[in-house]
This record gives sequence, structure tokens and C-alpha cells, in this order.
Amino acid sequence: MNILLASSEVFPFSKTGGLADMVGALARALANEGHEARVVTPLYRGIREKFPAMRKVDWYFDLPLGLKNVQAELWELDVVSGLKIYFIDQPGYFDRAGIYGDKHTSYADNAERYIFFSKCVVHLARYLAWRPEVVHVHDWQVGLVPSLMLQQKMAGWGNPPATCLTIHNLAYQGVFPEEAFALTNLPESIYHTEGAEFFGLLNCLKAGIAYADFITTVSPRYAREITTEEYGCGLDGMLRRRHKDLAGILNGVDYAEWNTTKNPHLPKPYSIGRMAGKKFNKSELQKFFGLPVDESAPLFGTISRLAEQKGVDIQLGALSEMLNTKMQFVLLGSGSPEYERGYRDLARHFPGKVAVRVGYDEKLSHRIEAACDFFLMPSRFEPCGLNQMYSLRYGTIPIVRATGGLDDSVIDWTQNPRLATGIKFSEYTSRSLAKAIRKALVLFSQPKLLQACRHNAMKADFSWERTVHEYLGVYKECKARQK
Ligand code: ADP
Repeated sequence: MNILLASSEVFPFSKTGGLADMVGALARALANEGHEARVVTPLYRGIREKFPAMRKVDWYFDLPLGLKNVQAELWELDVVSGLKIYFIDQPGYFDRAGIYGDKHTSYADNAERYIFFSKCVVHLARYLAWRPEVVHVHDWQVGLVPSLMLQQKMAGWGNPPATCLTIHNLAYQGVFPEEAFALTNLPESIYHTEGAEFFGLLNCLKAGIAYADFITTVSPRYAREITTEEYGCGLDGMLRRRHKDLAGILNGVDYAEWNTTKNPHLPKPYSIGRMAGKKFNKSELQKFFGLPVDESAPLFGTISRLAEQKGVDIQLGALSEMLNTKMQFVLLGSGSPEYERGYRDLARHFPGKVAVRVGYDEKLSHRIEAACDFFLMPSRFEPCGLNQMYSLRYGTIPIVRATGGLDDSVIDWTQNPRLATGIKFSEYTSRSLAKAIRKALVLFSQPKLLQACRHNAMKADFSWERTVHEYLGVYKECKARQK
């Protein structure tokens, strides 16, 4: 099958979160299965220098954007057989220090940047000599693609591909003032309450939900949750109306990247039969962070965007209570200044027990995963979550709130001690999380039980080889349901 994937970030070219990992890995998995996958993404600053094998394509975009026309060039990179990446080169929009904004503010012209990007995606889908059967778009940045394709169909595009929208996080919808709709050059008939309009504003994700042939999200439980008022972020009614065209597929993990045996980021490799390396990695990380090097101190870690979604408030509360025990805690994260301050204050209150690194650091994230005994992920909501699955493979027991993909990927120690891979709690409170941490301390004090749980975790298989077939099934559905 020929599939064109469109995303505003793709690992290893650009990344702010799980979206990039997912699109990069899914495209590769499709190619490995013998399909032809092509990905289209913006050419952000620095990518060309990092990937010098990239070639300029003899292609020129000159597309209407409201009352003006905007031009762009196209670059391509062949990654492996069956996988090509297209980069949209529009320096005015994409040659900037950040992807979506500067440290704490979004770029003021994000509507314009991603409406233009969406138009480039549609233009490629229509005019490339290579014909995609399905265009698979990801998140709000390309949410307008299905309606732009319908518009082209009405304007004489004979046999356009089917469309699939994947929602990676319903909390980000790309909502802009009504004036931004004019940049789409779409007919007014798209701008209504069952289409792109949301309480008088343009909502790019809503347009995707309305016009895509099929919708997926990144875990079965989150697919159910988003049809409820509690998790629906205002779009639950719309999603309920489309529930027959909605499926949840748990993201896979790219084990070529995330493994403990052949990993250039780790001081020592380890595996189920050879766990000495994990102990060594723990002492190296304790040294690195200036914590007492102590094998008997249970080491907890978190790697996260510091956003409300991630449960920072209950984590700070629970840690303040639990850090009087023998536990140590390390954090790698960045985001809201208020939360960054919260963790720094925690480190000041518990010297020698807490280490905080504010920033984004791929290498350190592998080292933390490999060194810790437990990984804390108390999200308020979590569409899929990747870190808990990385933790499983690294033998680092995840402690998660039972929501979205966290619930789908972890087996709880209390509910199923024999098959357990982690510890779950339900109530969104510091008390409930503190109780889960107390359970972890009990588990840590019983080496045999801890070892059994670690083994279960390390054997859990969330590889893309399994998941890719579910997407292929969805692509068939897309074609069958094409509008
Ligand atoms: P989300 O996409 O909501 O941020 P996920 O768990 O799905 O959450 O994916 C997060 C990804 O981003 C993981 O690969 C994680 O390791 C990475 N990540 C998040 N924060 C950092 C950071 N500060 N440094 C390095 N990697 C990070």
C-alpha cells in the first residue's frame, strides 16, 4: 500500500514529544512490512546540516494563503528502502529557533504556518507522480488536510486518497480567531458547528474529526475516554457522533532506539539474565547527580514535559510526603516555569535526596530510564504515553495513574501479582500516589518479588511489528468509508 504521512514533527529530524517518535517509527514499520511510506514534514532550522544526504527536489510550491500566495521548496531524504521523507522548505515559517514557539510562548503566526504546511501536504498528495492510497495526518497542525482534500475533489480531483486522522492529544486543538479561516481559502460551508467552527473560533483538529474518513487515537482506553465529557475537551459530542469511525491503537516502541543491550547512551548494557549493568548505571547516575551512591536507596525518576496533564501537582505533594523515607528522586523535564520552580524548591528542601535537571536531553533520558528502580508517571490524562513503555523494557517499574495508554500498557501488582509489570493507582490525589509509592517501597524491600516484576516488565512486547498491522487494517477501513 502507498501511504503518505503528514506530521509537524518526526523523529529523528524534529521532536517535542511522543508524536515525533510515533510518526517516525510507524513510517519505518510500514516500510519494513514492504509498504511504500512517505512522510511530509517542515524543514526546521538545523535539519539540513544534520542530514547532508538530503537532496533538493525539482519542485516549487506557490499556493494561495488568504489573499496572498506563499512559495516553498521541497527537499527529500531516502531513509531506508520504502521510506522517503519530504521536507517543506519555507524559511520564513520554519527556519526559527523553536518548532511551535520560543521557550514559553507560541509563535503568533502558527495558524498561518500550519495552514500553509497543510496546503503543501494536499498539493503533494495530488500532484506527486507517486500516488498515495491513504493520507494519514497527525494532530491539529494538519487537521485541515481532509477538508482541503474534499475542496480539491469538488474542484475536479478525480480520485483522491482516503484520509485518516490520528489524535495524539485532544487537549491541543489548534484554536485560532475566526479571521484565520480566511487563510484556508475553504468555502464558508466548512465553517459551521459540525465542521471547523468552535464557539466562533477556527478549530483545526475539529475540522479533521469532521472530515477525515477514519479517526484513530493512540490507545484503546483513551479512545473511550475522549467520548466522555470529562476527557472530551469540548469535542466529546462530535466524537460520540463519529464513534463508529473511531479506534484506539496503542503506540509501539522503537526498540532499535530504546533498548538496554545495544545503546550508546548507557554506561553499561544489561539484560534479563545480566542485571549487574543496571546496578552500575544506577551508581553512575547517582554520582552524576551528586546523590549519595547507595544501592539500597530506591531510586525514582521522572522524564516529562512539565505541563498540567502530567500530574505535577500531585507528584510534588506525594514526594514532599514520601521523601522522608530512604527513597531518592531525579527529574528531567522542562515546561511551565511555575512547575520548574516547584521541583527546584523540592530539591532545596531535600538536599542529597532529590536532583532536578531542567532541560531537554535525549541521552540523559536513556540514562535515567536505565538507572532508576521506579518511574513515576501520575498523569491526569495520558493518550498513550511512551515513557512507561520505555521503563518496562529498561526493567524500571512504572508507577502510573490508571488512565489512557498508561492503563492499557501496565499490569498492576495488586490486581495481578504473578503477571505484574508495574503499580497503578486511580484517584487523582497526592494521597493516592503516595500510597502507590509506599507499595513500591514494599516491593523494593523484597528482592525476589522485585526481580519477578522486572522480568515481566522487560519481556512485555510493544513493538511496532505488532502494531503496524492494526494500522494497515485501519487504512483498509479508511478506503472502504471514503467520503
Ligand atoms: P508527551 O508526548 O505527552 O510529551 P510521551 O510519554 O508520549 O509524552 O512522550 C514523551 C517523549 O518525550 C518521550 O520520548 C520522552 O523521553 C521525551 N521527553 C520528554 N521530556 C524530555 C526531556 N526533558 N528530555 C528528554 N526527553 C524528553
